Amino acid sequence: MSCCGKKPAASAFVRAKDKWNEYAENYRQHLEICGNCIELRRFHSVVPLGTPATKLDNCRICGCVILLKAGFSSQHCPIGKW
Ligand code: SF4
Repeated sequence: MSCCGKKPAASAFVRAKDKWNEYAENYRQHLEICGNCIELRRFHSVVPLGTPATKLDNCRICGCVILLKAGFSSQHCPIGKW
C-alpha cells in the first residue's frame, strides 16, 4: 500500500526487478571479463587468471578499481572489451 492509499501497479515492481537483474548480470559479466584480462593488476598475486575481479584489483591501462568501475553504466573498458 502506498502513502496515498492506492496499491502500486505490479508492473512497476516487475520493471524495477528486470532492471536490477539486467544491471547485476552486466556487472557480473564485466568482473568476469576483467578476470580473464592480462591487463588486470591483482591485489592478491596468487589469484589464478579467470577468477572474476575482486576487492582492489585494478586495470593497468586506466588505473581504475574494477569493482567500482564495473558498476557504472557510463564507464567502459579502455580497450573495448565491455
Ligand atoms: S577494464 Fe578492460 S583492459 Fe582493464 S582489466 Fe578490464 S577488460 Fe582489461
